[in-house]
Amino acid sequence: MNQRGVTLWFTGLSGAGKTTISRAVAEKLRSLNYGIEILDGDIVRQNLTKGLGFSKEDRDENIRRIGFVAHLLTRNGVIVLVSAISPYREIRQEVREKIGNFIEVFVNAPLEVCEGRDVKGLYKRARAGEIKRFTGIDDPYEAPLKPEVECRTDLEDLDESVNKVFNKLTELGYISN
Ligand code: ADP
Repeated sequence: MNQRGVTLWFTGLSGAGKTTISRAVAEKLRSLNYGIEILDGDIVRQNLTKGLGFSKEDRDENIRRIGFVAHLLTRNGVIVLVSAISPYREIRQEVREKIGNFIEVFVNAPLEVCEGRDVKGLYKRARAGEIKRFTGIDDPYEAPLKPEVECRTDLEDLDESVNKVFNKLTELGYISN
């Protein structure tokens, strides 16, 4: 495989658009014959990190394990797309340093917008007190200070967000399309 590996790390609130953008980017990369893998937080939590909860310790452990797998793939030339809330800055920094070839994509929309979308009905349940430690409601989200890419999904459409990610991949020399 004649490509450089990199991890695209999509972080942001629930409903901000991480899954939507990462899937669209993945589809486009696949159509250009790049070797990719997706690590989606919701799916990872059903297998790789099954049993972990939402305390800071468990959230960090979740991210550490995702980072471990992303690192293995990245060093073997895969373009890895991680979408996980990953609310804590310090652990994001830790996986960034470990992986090296790392692009942080801040998928950003105001809480009110994410809550208004309520894609999975989780905000409603969090407001009702049925879910505790929900990021943005009663658990913190530490926004990236210097993300390589920021997608303002309340202000731009999906194509614009996807293009921003592609432009960064091109600028940094990971793809040549
Ligand atoms: P997350 O993975 O961050 O929890 P999702 O991708 O599951 O978020 O949901 C985001 C929702 O926002 C989807 O319903 C998507 O259609 C919508 N949306 C609106 N505008 C955008 C945009 N520019 N980029 C991504 N998603 C958007």
